[in-house]
Amino acid sequence: MVKHRGYSQRVLVTGGAGFLGSHLCERLIERGDEVLCVDNYFTGARRNVAHLMASPNFELMRHDVTFPLYVETDRIFNLACPASPVHYQYDPVQTTKTSVHGAINMLGLAKRTGATIFQASTSEVYGDPSVHPQSEDYWGNVNPIGPRACYDEGKRCAETLFFDYHRQYKLPIKVARIFNTYGPRMHPSDGRVVSNFIMQALKGEPITVYGEGQQTRSFCYVDDLIDGFLRFMDTGPEHSGPLNLGNPAEFTILELAELIIELTGSTSTIQRHPLPQDDPRQRRPDITKARALLDWEPRVPLRDGLERTIAYFRKNFFD
Ligand code: NAD
Ligand code: UDP
Ligand code: UDP
Repeated sequence: MVKHRGYSQRVLVTGGAGFLGSHLCERLIERGDEVLCVDNYFTGARRNVAHLMASPNFELMRHDVTFPLYVETDRIFNLACPASPVHYQYDPVQTTKTSVHGAINMLGLAKRTGATIFQASTSEVYGDPSVHPQSEDYWGNVNPIGPRACYDEGKRCAETLFFDYHRQYKLPIKVARIFNTYGPRMHPSDGRVVSNFIMQALKGEPITVYGEGQQTRSFCYVDDLIDGFLRFMDTGPEHSGPLNLGNPAEFTILELAELIIELTGSTSTIQRHPLPQDDPRQRRPDITKARALLDWEPRVPLRDGLERTIAYFRKNFFD
């Protein structure tokens, strides 16, 4: 095993038993870090990290980040927060608490330990954007009282806290704005579009396209995203972000549905459903900054990433 920089770091990953967190823990263990994975299992699960349990460098702890946490660490990746609209709207007050109180506790922990802290922020801070593609200097168009606000405004407030701790206490921070990411270990009933469409296609059920399906998203394969996380964390303390991380290839939801039907060889048909309130009409990251700073670029095209994700869903839920 090759250790980076010749020594290992103690890394805390909150939300580490979730979709992105489990991939991140895996990569950190592979490169020789000591990982403390903290999760309350709201949307994550122990099985996502079960393959890491045998490693002496991996530790798993049930904990809710809205409560204080006293541990020693060199780096923190703060990912704890439900990410799918279905899950974050299930208990919206808890979603805001997780984003805001969770950020305060993890920032307090970083301040006490001197750790560098990474925040999993989101393209949702741009809301239903009037600037396209979205670059980091766009301030966004978010409805502060709508059903998505618990997530969008929670994440915006977390960004504010990160930058205030940075200015006030000189804390090294890394704020990444993540765009729609998909891959193995997404929860099958997670409600997000990629997992919904794949599960529906594999079951031969109708594919639920919301609205006309002309709204767009840009989908990043999980391995590419985690690569971006690690590169960003390894930059010097002068690089705080915010930094967009995502794949700029943009597709309509209808195009995604048709591609998934083709790749699964499904007989499913497309069924229209009402468009949810405040659903962003378009989304595509401008990744000029990430390209320059990290020498990073997503490599996995949608078709390849979907094939790998479909294989995972088939193996785990249909074999
Ligand atoms: P996920 O739901 O699979 O993972 C979130 C994890 O956080 C879960 O394991 C969940 O149990 C845990 N969690 C939730 N509330 C918690 C709490 N109060 N205390 C401790 N743990 C808690 O979602 P994901 O896709 O892996 O997203 C991870 C992070 O990345 C989230 O912060 C999300 O907002 C952000 N993000 C993800 C995407 C994406 O497309 N996947 C896009 C933008 C931002
Ligand atoms: N905190 C924590 N772990 C630590 C240090 C602090 O969870 O190791 C929490 C603590 O409960 C506090 C929050 O982080 O509520 C913010 O800490 P900070 O030092 O900024 O504020 P203060 O303790 O002065 O309110
Ligand atoms: N969507 C859809 N059918 C579904 C789930 C989602 O048409 O079964 C649409 C949704 O309205 C949105 C897009 O797909 O326009 C992405 O939705 P998702 O919940 O994955 O993420 P987000 O809206 O947070 O980008």
